[in-house]
Amino acid sequence: MATIGILGGGQLARMLAIAGAPLGQRFLVVDSARDACASQVAPLLRADWRDFDALAEFARRVDVATFDFENVPAETAQWLTEHTRVFPNPRALALAQDRLAEKNLFREIGLATPAFAAVDSREDLARAIEAIGLPAVLKTRRLGYDGKGQAVLRSIADADAAWAALGSAPLILEAFVKFQREVSVISVRSQTGEFRAYPLTQNWHAGGILAASLAPAPDSADLERLAIAHARMLAERLDYVGTFALELFDRDGELLGNEIAPRVHNSGHWTIEGAVCSQFENHVRAVVGLPLGDTSLRNPSVMLNWIGELPDANAILREPDGHWHDYGKEPRAGRKVGHATVCARGKAELGERLARIARALGREAQIDPVRAALAL
Ligand code: AMP
Repeated sequence: MATIGILGGGQLARMLAIAGAPLGQRFLVVDSARDACASQVAPLLRADWRDFDALAEFARRVDVATFDFENVPAETAQWLTEHTRVFPNPRALALAQDRLAEKNLFREIGLATPAFAAVDSREDLARAIEAIGLPAVLKTRRLGYDGKGQAVLRSIADADAAWAALGSAPLILEAFVKFQREVSVISVRSQTGEFRAYPLTQNWHAGGILAASLAPAPDSADLERLAIAHARMLAERLDYVGTFALELFDRDGELLGNEIAPRVHNSGHWTIEGAVCSQFENHVRAVVGLPLGDTSLRNPSVMLNWIGELPDANAILREPDGHWHDYGKEPRAGRKVGHATVCARGKAELGERLARIARALGREAQIDPVRAALAL
């Protein structure tokens, strides 16, 4: 039995602690927020990422440290490695924090990406627009997630406003990809180099935030093999230990790398009920050195994200194999406050359950695209 320290006390830390408890693992969460939702299930050390006295106490109290939040400063992660074991390693974390480094690595391993260029000045932006064309997406290289720190440029007239909004930080301009769909692969690698991946997942976003996921992604045997091969190469290059997500665009059957999340990921929440061993349990197993669990699908599964506020839980709980996750957070616009996973033995049954839920909650806009992908 070990004590696992988690930097960041949000819902990911909360679900890691819940998954680790049956394995006899203990947890200690560091977060500066008094109401960090993981503190409802694990002890909380309230501290800032740069409070090295508090981090020294944290390091003394834990056997191994990991992350619920990828934007922990690189210095903090590096400092921690001198005081305790840290998984994933700070190099992998630093790479995933920088969209430019990430895309360069994708290309090195033979994973195509949207056309991109680094932008550090207004002149760079003009040159990048010339080279890449429009529409394009201007993104901050660092500290972006859930569509934050991004602006879509549709015409040259949008460039000044985008530069004014984002230009104080290093940027990347990417071609705007007209993809058919977004997919992700959640993988896990152990300290001895064992690698496992979950079935490819199809994802829908609204306003840059994940709205729904479907596993397995329909009609994806070849894409899945490719996506998993790329994920494996990335994990080996980075000597990655733990669970991570590789987010991809499917454009006419070609995979383009979007980003890596060096942690358990929202598009893998369905694995709690839909896979033999969840992404959370497998992350715990990896960081403490236990054998990895089976990543096979049990049943087709759909995850629905609740953003801002929770809908009526009964619409989910009434369904056989319907599962409710309330993160214990205060409702707030744009905030992930919970999710539901609905599983079924087959696609038709899953579609029927989704149709009832959509009607009961008036959430057709969120759920109908998933039903369409199930071809129902
Ligand atoms: P990101 O934070 O990079 O994952 O972006 C959030 C969402 O914005 C993605 O899931 C896509 O839906 C969309 N997006 C990001 N980059 C692009 C791109 N180059 N082309 C088209 N859509 C994009």
